[in-house]
Amino acid sequence: MSSLLITHGQVFTLGRRNELIADGAVYVEGDTIAEVGTTASLVAKYPAAERLDAGGKLVLPGSICGHTHFYGAFARGMAIPGAPATNFVEILERLWWKLDRALLWDDVRYSALICLVDAIRHGCTTLIDHHASPNAIEGSLDILADAVKETGLRAGLCYEVTDRNGMDGARAGIAENVRFLKRCRKERDPQLAASFGLHAAITLSDKTLTASVAAAESLPPGGGDGRVAGFHIHVAEGIADQEESLRKYNLRVVERLQKFGILGPKTLAIHCVHLDAFEKDILRETGTLVTHQPRSNMNNAVGLPDVAGLLKRGIPVALGNDGFSNNMFDEMKAAYLAHKHNTGNPQAMPGDVVMQMAYGNNAYLCRQFFPKPLGELSAGAFADIIFLDYAPPTPLTPGNLPWHILFGVDGAHVTHTIASGKVLMKDRQLTLLDEAAIMAKARELAVGVWKRV
Ligand SMILES: [Zn+2]
Repeated sequence: MSSLLITHGQVFTLGRRNELIADGAVYVEGDTIAEVGTTASLVAKYPAAERLDAGGKLVLPGSICGHTHFYGAFARGMAIPGAPATNFVEILERLWWKLDRALLWDDVRYSALICLVDAIRHGCTTLIDHHASPNAIEGSLDILADAVKETGLRAGLCYEVTDRNGMDGARAGIAENVRFLKRCRKERDPQLAASFGLHAAITLSDKTLTASVAAAESLPPGGGDGRVAGFHIHVAEGIADQEESLRKYNLRVVERLQKFGILGPKTLAIHCVHLDAFEKDILRETGTLVTHQPRSNMNNAVGLPDVAGLLKRGIPVALGNDGFSNNMFDEMKAAYLAHKHNTGNPQAMPGDVVMQMAYGNNAYLCRQFFPKPLGELSAGAFADIIFLDYAPPTPLTPGNLPWHILFGVDGAHVTHTIASGKVLMKDRQLTLLDEAAIMAKARELAVGVWKRV
């Protein structure tokens, strides 16, 4: 088994220990952290290990993104045809549902690769993706899985089932989820996980929801915990999701999802912007996970979820990026500011709560899918470690780290990204990938995608 001894870092363990080890070291065996301590003690204990000197930089666990869309990467800089959207449903119709239909096989691969490169650059080592490519469905999750493996990162994948491409499209989406869930359960690759993707209640008929739940229940229990696969679904992102649900089904979105058996401890409910108290209680009672994407919420002008109310109920709200850059430090900053601005209350969304969502709650979410802890530097956790060349202008402690991140640290400070014990970026140079070639090919493919859009 390969081993690596990281020395001379300002090691922030996070997690339960939540310590700063000033001249710290992390000893890695294979894909796992074996020990965290001082440089002096671990050098004495593991004299033969290959060393990587952190040179006094900050050493943190890799960031985690609880919800993203690799498929959206080609939207950057794209002119959207037709009149500008005036609401969220029009944004979906005029941008995202045109873009996803324009993706062919190579586009699916490169769209993912450019997101994964971006993630390595910004120190994000685990991502939970929600994929759509209606004209390239079957096998699309394998293409994403190959890209993930090639980059050395870790991802949870699913295909978003929807009725907007007819019954054949919905059936193909269901089949793709089932196929990939079976693959993951068979292979048990620690870098890959699967859930059952559903787009959103607004694009899913009762018939398709029933078929999706039946397909998920037909799978053998995963991970030995006896539970069927969890779902990954956008919930009440725009107000139209609620209006449509009440008009068509006389149920609020969360009530309807509960009725079909979609909710539960492995299910990710994304956004949850327009929920009433009753729906929040249902999420708590079912143990459903929620992710928050403030940059996306602001960009789509859909409002913000009552994150404080969800957290107060004990729901572990995690942080995603919904396809924005994989610089999770930016998402943290957005969360910190957006709720203060939205509520007119400077006490809204304290820095330590942002930190808890980004690390603790994202790690909890990932624990439903992956076999070892993430989001902390501790023995037994995945060896996902980043270095940042951030020189704090004021004292830096475990207690005030959240505010250094919110006001000083940026993804651009990341110099080294290590995932599963492999050094993926060293001194800002990617070690496994030809970044220039990937970007060149992506730019070439983007021309075709934009034309089809
Ligand atoms: Zn999303």
